[in-house]
Amino acid sequence: MALNRRLIVVSNRVPPSESFEEQGRGEASAGGLVTAVRAAMEQSGGLWFGWSGRTSRRRVTMGPTVRVFGRLQHATMDLSGDEVSQFYLGYSNRTLWPLLHSFPSHVDIRRQTYLSYRRVNRRFASSLLPLLSRDDLIWVQDFHLFHLGYELRRMGWRGKVGFFLHVPFPPAEIFNILPWSHDTLQALLEYDLVGLHNERYMHNLIDSLDIELGGESHDDTYYYEGSSTRLGVFPIGIDPGTFRPKKTHRSNDSQGDCNGHGTRSLVDELSLASTPDLQLILGVDRLDYTKGIPNRLRIFERMLERYSNLRNKLIYIQISSPSRTRVPEYVQEKELVERLVGQINGRFSEAGWVPIRYLYRSYAQSDLAGFYRDADVCLVTPLRDGMNLVAKEFVAAQGEDSPGVLVLSRFAGAASTMRDAVIVNPYDIDGTAEATYQALRMPLEERRRRNRKLLSVVEKHSSRNWSQTFTATLQAL
Ligand code: UDP
Repeated sequence: MALNRRLIVVSNRVPPSESFEEQGRGEASAGGLVTAVRAAMEQSGGLWFGWSGRTSRRRVTMGPTVRVFGRLQHATMDLSGDEVSQFYLGYSNRTLWPLLHSFPSHVDIRRQTYLSYRRVNRRFASSLLPLLSRDDLIWVQDFHLFHLGYELRRMGWRGKVGFFLHVPFPPAEIFNILPWSHDTLQALLEYDLVGLHNERYMHNLIDSLDIELGGESHDDTYYYEGSSTRLGVFPIGIDPGTFRPKKTHRSNDSQGDCNGHGTRSLVDELSLASTPDLQLILGVDRLDYTKGIPNRLRIFERMLERYSNLRNKLIYIQISSPSRTRVPEYVQEKELVERLVGQINGRFSEAGWVPIRYLYRSYAQSDLAGFYRDADVCLVTPLRDGMNLVAKEFVAAQGEDSPGVLVLSRFAGAASTMRDAVIVNPYDIDGTAEATYQALRMPLEERRRRNRKLLSVVEKHSSRNWSQTFTATLQAL
């Protein structure tokens, strides 16, 4: 169904208009939400509202700044230094993020940061309201803005408003750790439509709603105190065309289109051309404790211990894009990762061979497309992840001639649809080391068969499909 209303997307962060390429090597906003929403907004046009990413020294009282890019408008507001530290770094990143990813030991509970979160949600609502027209469809993104719909309703908004959660919804016994779980669930029920990545997250949410609020669910609708909210599964995806191979890399360098995306190669980037028969394992993640990078390093170490034939023949490249560098848990994670890389390289390196290449920086997606294609195995082994788009991008980037193998954690949301990946449990170091070793040796026919099936899943659940299905469902309610 075509969208016949203006789409208003609200997310914590509206990215700067520059692309990754222009942002260079700094702390770029690499993330699945921005990638998918940007693709959706470029198709539909409309208004994208959120934080500019700037911090104002003074209390922020001004209205949003509006910029027009063709059919797309960006309206952004600044946050004060206090709001950044309490709403964003505090409640969003140190309370909700670990809670929703089932890391209770990392959850930091402070009343002060919760109150700041509520105030920022209110301020988002009051700044957005004057920009709205009655028939607009509002689509709120992610856990930073659980209460935005509730605040809009309190201010008199009667139009449609939907919400999508980009991270997991945890089991009720984890969610209940939050002293404000009751209010948060009530706020969620102010939305007309709440979307999640998969059935498991939806069941977890319904379970929490049943326990905390005691409403009733029938046919994907939750009824509570005379109102109803539709709950739905909308798996987020990518635009596969952005990653589709344009050039054959390692197998035959003379073929293909050398212009456009995906032409940068890992082999060139790391000057590996002189090493014949080298196999490459690739990891691409924000540096986040949910991504399980230390476990992945231990898995690689176990492979080198167990299979000495891999030495001199295998390199593991880990791209870690800087993320939340002011949050203490992320500083500790970075130190742990760097220590492990040093230890493993110190233990196994030989003249002419360093087993781990660790790149602490962000790359443009057009570069990643080429890197994915060069990898024999992509290790996507988060300890918990809402979806994980890197898994989808890797599959889309493979050529039919010699596709690489996706090794995927069962704890990534992507595992619920990408069943033809090699599914692993990243807590099981021995088991995952063995599975990755087998992946490196997988026969060509099996690699092709698996990649074909995975590609059809990636194409079916594209970013376009995700946004169109969500907005059409919201419009039709
Ligand atoms: N990404 C990027 N450059 C990098 C690292 C990551 O553009 O150096 C992008 C990547 O292509 C993907 C997104 O960031 O689209 C990461 O999304 P994912 O769902 O895997 O994880 P998230 O960071 O959202 O937790």
